[in-house]
Amino acid sequence: MRFLILADIHANLEALEAVLERARGQFDQVICCGDLVGYGPDPNRVTEAVRQLDPAVAVRGNHDKAAVGLTDLSWFNPPARSAALWTQAQLSEENRSYLLGMLRGPVEGEGFTVAHGSLLDEDQYLLNLEDALQSLSLAPHRLTFFGHTHVQGGFAWFKEQRAGRLDPGLRKGAAESRLALDSENRYLINPGSVGQPRDDDPRAAFAVYDRGKALVSYFRVEYPVGRVQQKMRRAGLPGYLADRLSRGW
Ligand code: ZN
Repeated sequence: MRFLILADIHANLEALEAVLERARGQFDQVICCGDLVGYGPDPNRVTEAVRQLDPAVAVRGNHDKAAVGLTDLSWFNPPARSAALWTQAQLSEENRSYLLGMLRGPVEGEGFTVAHGSLLDEDQYLLNLEDALQSLSLAPHRLTFFGHTHVQGGFAWFKEQRAGRLDPGLRKGAAESRLALDSENRYLINPGSVGQPRDDDPRAAFAVYDRGKALVSYFRVEYPVGRVQQKMRRAGLPGYLADRLSRGW
């Protein structure tokens, strides 16, 4: 069984289409780590695309909650808040109820766990080793997929009794990197963000988990960033959100 791991799509249809094109034929099921919408210009089409993919396991993200009124928006920074309000106004009734019905993470799949933020809190950012260690020690399975930070890679607790970051090393332009899973290690895998990368690489990010081969492959793929930026500007979304897509930060 091979799983396509998607996180933080953020209503970026062009990025999602590029990912699905690149991943075609390489997966059997989809895992979604949340944040289908928020920031980007295509909340309906992206939500419809994910509904069509019919993920085997999916959790909601903080922006999915915000888009359906489950969040106090005063916690959001001004561009995120204004994008959330814009998204609320755009969503069709069907897509709104799909987002409303998404599960709070963590959720367990067969032999793995899926979270948006962390094992402790769906809204926690796992950016440092200390926080990652806490989640690694709580994880019911050796393998957890998460998102929220928009940084591709993740963390591991190695059998030599040390923790470390996982860096796929794709920033210099390579498009694929493989991680062979050791059954004695514990992993927190972040596939990276499809629609708004924040790891200095503007290319859309995703991962494929091949359970039979015990292998996680990280990918980056180019997509027409300019087209998305143009849509965002036309929609009146904050310019800062459009600009950051070309920086990958
Ligand atoms: Zn996000």
